[in-house]
Amino acid sequence: MRVTEGELELEVPGEQTDGIEESVFYNPRQELNRDLTIATLRAYREREDRAETYLDAMTASGIRGVRAAADGWDVTCCDVNEDAVELARTNLERNDCESRATVEHRNSNALMHEQVFDVIDLDPYGTPMPFADAAFANCRDLVCVTATDTAPLCGAHFNSGVRSYSAVPRNTDYHAEMGVRILLSALARSAARFDVGVEPILTHATSHYVRTYLELEHKATAADAAINTLGHISHCEDCLYREHEFGLHADPIEECPHCGGNRMLTAGPVWLGSIRDAAFVAAVRDEIPDAFGTAEKARDLCTTLETELDEPTHYDQHKLCRNWGLPANAMDEFLTDLRKAGYAASRAHYGGTTFKTDASVGEIREATASALE
Ligand SMILES: [Zn+2]
Repeated sequence: MRVTEGELELEVPGEQTDGIEESVFYNPRQELNRDLTIATLRAYREREDRAETYLDAMTASGIRGVRAAADGWDVTCCDVNEDAVELARTNLERNDCESRATVEHRNSNALMHEQVFDVIDLDPYGTPMPFADAAFANCRDLVCVTATDTAPLCGAHFNSGVRSYSAVPRNTDYHAEMGVRILLSALARSAARFDVGVEPILTHATSHYVRTYLELEHKATAADAAINTLGHISHCEDCLYREHEFGLHADPIEECPHCGGNRMLTAGPVWLGSIRDAAFVAAVRDEIPDAFGTAEKARDLCTTLETELDEPTHYDQHKLCRNWGLPANAMDEFLTDLRKAGYAASRAHYGGTTFKTDASVGEIREATASALE
């Protein structure tokens, strides 16, 4: 089966191959992820002009590697699966990219420990953590990571989340953001083992995966700074109150300071810092051409991310209103009321009814309820 993406034509398996799902080789639902990858690589080249080499560490059909090679990167496509390696070779040749790309049939962890790359892209099926240490050990500038195991990340599959991420994820109404912050925490701790500090310059949670781009700084003090960005979130299951505290020691709250209830959850260590660099996100948006299949969606995502507040948890307006027994009003009106009351407020990229604010759950109700009743 042939598919066209980013103005390139690729051969992908149309049916199951030896019992392996075709989405392992080519997942059409990840086109937005790949379009944003190319735009991010373009913007990153402006930010760090020495960056030239790109490793597609789980290349599968080779699509990401082909697209990066067509964009002028010095690419290595790696896969442990022989069928994938053949497919990647075919697709590089089909697009006249074989001179700008090397294909490696091997264990990507072994390759990452042996060879230095400027940019490493981890796009595994499930958790990326088995590959994180090798990526941070030698990568020079940028590590790009996809995680598709959202149920473990957000605490819905609790034990699996604890095992994969060495953290306590909790199932809350901001589950996608819980996943983002659990993933960033685990990646920051993995990088810190190599005295490497991470800065997430672009991160998004989109239908069933989390994607992040981490700029690296090879300094022990930068690794310390990343670790100091970790902390814990306390959450009340009854009134949706939440608060956060920096530090690796958990200090669980027994009783909700807002409603007095005792159904409190504590999650962590989670990443409490910003998940993106606003100026960089704007630069990425400018690098998305109309020809990309998901151009409009990708630009909208960047626009929301650019203005999204750094508060570590978002609210869902509909869930809050349901909890209060009040009808929801228009989102813009709701946010305007918060701002009029003196609070910062922004939309969030986690969904059409999600928002961020520095107001507490009680303050949100006070600022907005008169318009709802
Ligand atoms: Zn409460």
